[in-house]
Amino acid sequence: MEYRIALLKGDGIGPEVIDSARRILEAVGEKYDRHFQFSEYLVGGAAYVATGAPLPQETLNGCLASDSVLLGAVGGPQWDNLPVHLRPEQALFALRSGLGLYSNVRPVRMYRALKGASPLHPDIVAAGFNIIIVRELTGGIYFGERGRRTSHLYDSEEAFDTECYSVAEIERIGRVAFEMALGRSKRLTSIDKANVLESSRLWREVMHHLSAEYPQVELADMLVDNAAMQLIRKPAQFDVIVTSNMFGDILSDEASQLTGSIGLLPSSSLGNTTRGLYEPIHGSAPDIAGLGIANPIATILSAALMLRHSFGLLAAANSIEAAVEAALDAGCRTRDLLMGSQAPTLSTTEMTEEILKRL
Ligand code: NAD
Repeated sequence: MEYRIALLKGDGIGPEVIDSARRILEAVGEKYDRHFQFSEYLVGGAAYVATGAPLPQETLNGCLASDSVLLGAVGGPQWDNLPVHLRPEQALFALRSGLGLYSNVRPVRMYRALKGASPLHPDIVAAGFNIIIVRELTGGIYFGERGRRTSHLYDSEEAFDTECYSVAEIERIGRVAFEMALGRSKRLTSIDKANVLESSRLWREVMHHLSAEYPQVELADMLVDNAAMQLIRKPAQFDVIVTSNMFGDILSDEASQLTGSIGLLPSSSLGNTTRGLYEPIHGSAPDIAGLGIANPIATILSAALMLRHSFGLLAAANSIEAAVEAALDAGCRTRDLLMGSQAPTLSTTEMTEEILKRL
């Protein structure tokens, strides 16, 4: 069977980490006798430079014609002053809505070998953690009405953004999270700001309504400010978390740092079909782009998520994850994972080869 994968390298370290993930996919394809057919498309700043648009129609069409999409990262300081609709990051919003992807799932786990790289107290790290953050992706304040207007109060300009969620939007992300919790420890924490926001009060109501359909899952609510604190105080208390677009954006970056490096964390975005968008949670890291030192693990693990969630190739996905863990256990470290240790630093290519060796 052939699987068509759209590769969107993007900007900065995007091309470097996508090349690594492609090598891993090719190797795993050989091992499990599966054929992956890759097509590359422009996205982000690179697409803007070549075509004048951060998400050319050809790229969206290519993604729609593929079985799944693997993306590097977009953005860079050279495009920061463009009008909003031309900025590279707009491509991400357009891709998510163009592909109908409303759930973003980010696994955050503590690797045995990297316990020393976590900024948390050793007693907290010793307990370990393995959290899944389910973030709503196509609603809320990032997509609500926004604008500028004259403020009569201060006799000057003011700006506004609007958080708006419908019952249907909350229900569909809630179902993703409840299903995820069913397949794990059956604990779900819904994070909101229901003491202040009306949209959060509706969020909470809908989650509780849904929980009647999932009596085996224990649902708990938590306010987002408390959640930000609890993630650092006792991350092991969480299993599956479900939250809105903006809260999920912020909390997942916070959680990622608990593992030691943003360069480790993959993500998957899915809608109603098996076609997903898989990408590392980090950005284009312009400060290290072109130096060959980016950590490829987040993108390699994103490829593993693709095999599992879009293609159902569980053994192949597990083997990639096991090879990554084995490389970390053997002391392989890119620069971002050093954290004061004296281990020799591996380049992006060397780390990829260490993982390949263990596949
Ligand atoms: P960033 O994630 O690119 O970088 C933050 C820090 O982490 C930097 O010091 C960087 O060197 C380091 N880092 C990130 N990924 C790494 C990796 N794989 N290996 C080693 N170190 C890594 O975030 P930023 O600096 O805030 O943003 C840079 C650009 O990326 C901006 O234009 C931003 O808009 C864009 N961005 C894109 C995405 C995306 O494409 N999904 C996500 C976030 C930010």
